[in-house]
Amino acid sequence: MGKVMIIDITKCNGCHNCQIACKDEHCGNDWSPIAKPQPLTGQFWTRVVDRVRGQVPKVKVTYEHTICQHCDEAPCLQACPEKAIYKREDGVVIIDPELCKGSHNCVEACPYPGVIFFNEDLGISQKCTFCAHLLDSGWNETRCSEACPTGAITVGEEEELADLLARAEILNPELGTRPRVYYVGLPRLFVAGTVFDPQADEIVENASVSLTALSGESHLPEQPGASTAAVAVVAQTVTDEFGDFWIDGLQPGTYSVRIEKPGYEQVQVGPFSLEKDLNLGDLAMRQRRETAFVRAIVNIMTGNIATATGWRAREIHVDQASATLGEVLRAACLRDGKTSLFDLVAYEKGLKPDFGLFVGGELVRGEVDWNRPIVDSEQIHVCDWPIRDA
Ligand code: SF4
Ligand code: SF4
Ligand code: SF4
Repeated sequence: MGKVMIIDITKCNGCHNCQIACKDEHCGNDWSPIAKPQPLTGQFWTRVVDRVRGQVPKVKVTYEHTICQHCDEAPCLQACPEKAIYKREDGVVIIDPELCKGSHNCVEACPYPGVIFFNEDLGISQKCTFCAHLLDSGWNETRCSEACPTGAITVGEEEELADLLARAEILNPELGTRPRVYYVGLPRLFVAGTVFDPQADEIVENASVSLTALSGESHLPEQPGASTAAVAVVAQTVTDEFGDFWIDGLQPGTYSVRIEKPGYEQVQVGPFSLEKDLNLGDLAMRQRRETAFVRAIVNIMTGNIATATGWRAREIHVDQASATLGEVLRAACLRDGKTSLFDLVAYEKGLKPDFGLFVGGELVRGEVDWNRPIVDSEQIHVCDWPIRDA
């Protein structure tokens, strides 16, 4: 039990009030025996650093907080040859400014970068004191927590903050230092992108985006005997009104993204290695083509009425589920790109030969049933002799 500090990164807006309040409390003020004055420059007992994540235009800003972790197993304390560093009953770690002889050992022993500073003028190490001088005079807050306008910093008794602590985590638990500073909402990695329809020149809203982990992620459920190449969908979302998607909270690893929407062809991105926040960029999603069509074989008699020279076969596709004789022959005529006279034979269907005139692809004369449906793969026989031969 004892004091803890919980910094909620998700509430921090980067105003630096906490950093300034700490300077205000400690620069030029002697709070011995807790701390000697902090120099006006060069030390930040708590420091807020803006970290831009991702690539433009898919960026997020996270505010990192560097501060002494008031470790229960403090390497700095163990490293001090003067026994100048001690842990109070409330868990706060203090460097006694009278006992410190400036060996630097603590600075080198602390595994958290940038939290202990050396005061060249006084020849002592200095760091955050958890504002122990205020706690000892009845304060329930530290200067930094009191100054925070968003309530991002909470200090108090460990047992009274159990709910908040249940959502919090410590930095570098693998070090075994057992910090008394906790964090909520520490950034993980994100993947983002924008989905657009190149045919419509529009973004695609409400497309479903699935992220699959291919190997090595802590997201993967424990599966005895599963290979490291096991695959699991770890997150799903949909594109917003700007066609954007964001998937946050990821561990480093190998992933792929699948994007789906009815009426569109599926988009697959990856596998890709995720080592830092990643903008996948603009992803084209193509409309699915209607595959329903009628195919007809149009056998065309070539030559002229006096000298027929033989048949030429063409395969005609009409992009719809059903087609008429007129539509198929019109398509054949359009493909020829000229005005034709068709002597419709279609003898396989027992139709009476007749004449039809297509001008610019439009039927202008004819006696046969041009609305007769064509079955798929039907063979049709026609003559393409010029009009003057009719
Ligand atoms: S963070 Fe560093 S300086 Fe602070 S208690 Fe832990 S080891 Fe000591
Ligand atoms: S607890 Fe006090 S000494 Fe520590 S960072 Fe906050 S204001 Fe500074
Ligand atoms: S005062 Fe609060 S909001 Fe401002 S930088 Fe510090 S923690 Fe963040």
